[in-house]
Amino acid sequence: MSANEHSSATVNDPYLAGLRLAGRRVVVVGGGAVAQRRLPPLVRTGAELVLVAPEVTPTVEGLVGSGDVRWERRPYASGDLDDAWYALALTDDPLVNARVAADAEQARVFCVRADLAAGGTAVTPALAVEGPVTVGVLGGGDPQRAAAVRDGVQAAIRDGRLDTLPRRRAPGSGLPGVAIVGGGPGDPDLISVRGRRLLAHADVVVADRLAPQDLLTELGPDVEVVDAAKLPRGRAMAQATIHEVLLDRARAGKFVVRLKGGDPFVFGRGSEEVDACVAAGIPVTVVPGITSAIAVPGLAGIPLTERGISHEAVIVSGHLAPGDPGSLVDWPALGRLRGTLVLLMAVDQLPGIASVLLANGRDPDTPLAVVENGTLPAERVITGTLGTAAETLRRENVRPPAVVVVGDVARPRLP
Ligand code: SAH
Repeated sequence: MSANEHSSATVNDPYLAGLRLAGRRVVVVGGGAVAQRRLPPLVRTGAELVLVAPEVTPTVEGLVGSGDVRWERRPYASGDLDDAWYALALTDDPLVNARVAADAEQARVFCVRADLAAGGTAVTPALAVEGPVTVGVLGGGDPQRAAAVRDGVQAAIRDGRLDTLPRRRAPGSGLPGVAIVGGGPGDPDLISVRGRRLLAHADVVVADRLAPQDLLTELGPDVEVVDAAKLPRGRAMAQATIHEVLLDRARAGKFVVRLKGGDPFVFGRGSEEVDACVAAGIPVTVVPGITSAIAVPGLAGIPLTERGISHEAVIVSGHLAPGDPGSLVDWPALGRLRGTLVLLMAVDQLPGIASVLLANGRDPDTPLAVVENGTLPAERVITGTLGTAAETLRRENVRPPAVVVVGDVARPRLP
């Protein structure tokens, strides 16, 4: 800030305060786009909200319908501010806003004026609510500047650069136990805000092969990264070893993030890890992720349901051959399915799966799409039909990870 920005003869800086408005009458005049933006944070205060406006937007009407706001369907009238603690003049008519502001001044009610900030006795900061923390920014009369600073602070909180947790106790993050976090299908942007925030506080990260690897590069130097794919021994033992690592580190007071691909509970064994923590008395939390089953086809332009085309979608693991005694899948029933079949872990078994679907009635002309390395730089989308699935797979040399979609939703679309 330059010196002369602050050296005006009459000091008139607003004082930023948090108002406790629960149960107190707050009067909002005007029901348009500005009111629509201002009302939700006011609703969260528990204020007794009275909205005075002849007309309101459909969204505002929704708030009225939910019972959070009382709408007086009429123009503003003097006397509306009686018993009010706070007022907002948000109409698009400067004369009405001026009248509200003048009445408020008279009644000693703080009042925001949307059309002319300097004409009110209060100003609304640019707001961001992130969990327990509320950020409010006043931009020195420049709302765009306030919004930009707010956006920056919000982004920093969301990606974990700025900490909103209770102050840390050294050592470690102060968070307890284990978080089973779905990392999404691979693109580092497709993790949830909560997942990213917890990751930023991890003391230990136990990562799967299909978890977004780019997220690991952002971790601080003191974070222990355990590559679950490299743990020794066979499949079942590796899972037991993962449990041991999670529990061992958590017992040592570390905050452990178990970072998984997609959603932890979609063929992710996340529930086994939750069970292991619960059995050991370790606090555990689950952060859902964007599953590859939906997002990988989706980003390739393939919806799983479509009006008039598919009213169902079944997500199936194809890791076992249809005849395998360990298989829990009713393949003949899936052959009779009209809707969408989404196959994960199915690259190796696809020829056998296609045969059993065809033998049980699925049309060989049913469109089929294979999305390999979805959301990653090497993404490939291959389309064909169920009847020629095996051939397509061989010709294109498809490799895992891939999601296979069978059904009319997978028909080729114009770009
Ligand atoms: N929990 C994960 C799925 C784990 S099973 C989720 O919700 O996404 C592993 C299978 O997921 C892979 O064999 C493949 O079928 C699919 N998969 C995961 N990531 C993928 C990606 N980026 N592209 C294509 N398929 C993917």
